[in-house]
Amino acid sequence: MLVDSHLHSYYSTDSQLSPRQISDMLRSLGLRGILTDHYDFDHTQGDYFTFDIHEFLEDSLIQRAKNLYSGIELGLRPELRDNNEKLAGLKGFDFILGCLHYEYREGEIFDFTQSHGMSLVPFYHRYWQSMVNAVENNGFIHALGHVDYPTRYIQEFAGEIPLGAVADLIYECFRIMARKEISLELNTRRLGEKQARLQWQWFLRAYKECGGESVTFGSDAHTLQRIGRHFDIALELSEEADLIPVYYKGGIALEMEK
Ligand SMILES: [Zn+2]
Ligand SMILES: [Zn+2]
Repeated sequence: MLVDSHLHSYYSTDSQLSPRQISDMLRSLGLRGILTDHYDFDHTQGDYFTFDIHEFLEDSLIQRAKNLYSGIELGLRPELRDNNEKLAGLKGFDFILGCLHYEYREGEIFDFTQSHGMSLVPFYHRYWQSMVNAVENNGFIHALGHVDYPTRYIQEFAGEIPLGAVADLIYECFRIMARKEISLELNTRRLGEKQARLQWQWFLRAYKECGGESVTFGSDAHTLQRIGRHFDIALELSEEADLIPVYYKGGIALEMEK
């Protein structure tokens, strides 16, 4: 059975879905899933994008659902490293997904959903430099999520990623991941677009060349309609790249069966 390893319930600030709704939807799709709610602790914004971890880990709705596992999507920022490692070590998490959404530059928030007036190549150069630092500093994560994150949001880049121009940094990031046995998340959200499929083919090939072995599938669903989306394409792409589709249970990578 395939596992959607990136799902948001109402423990995330930006989702309304109850674990029961997610579980029912997964059952109807013939999938299992991992709840990976946002934990991007930011002292300047109070409890925005955080939740009560103990309440989550003890939630009987999640415990009782046979097709749900417990994960967390940690925001990887240098100043949060120790706190993130502590959270990742808590008993009860099956899966730790590391993601980069924003960071601080000279005391200012730098959100990767906006270009901040930068042009395409310099922007992605900074993004991938931060990704290199993130995996270097956070070897305890099981997978690195949505490496195409800015592409979803920055209109003026029109979905483009300057893969050739920042290839050195991407390869450096993927080599560190291979060495630390961090899986690459094949984020399925954009796979309906041809341009995105080509970009993902490139990412998967590069990850394989760097010694990477496994991918998780993540829809990053915040609504029921998005759960398990484009998993057929994800299967094709991972097979073509000769990467093993896995999910994590109790911190151990297990191969997914179709
Ligand atoms: Zn995310
Ligand atoms: Zn997410």
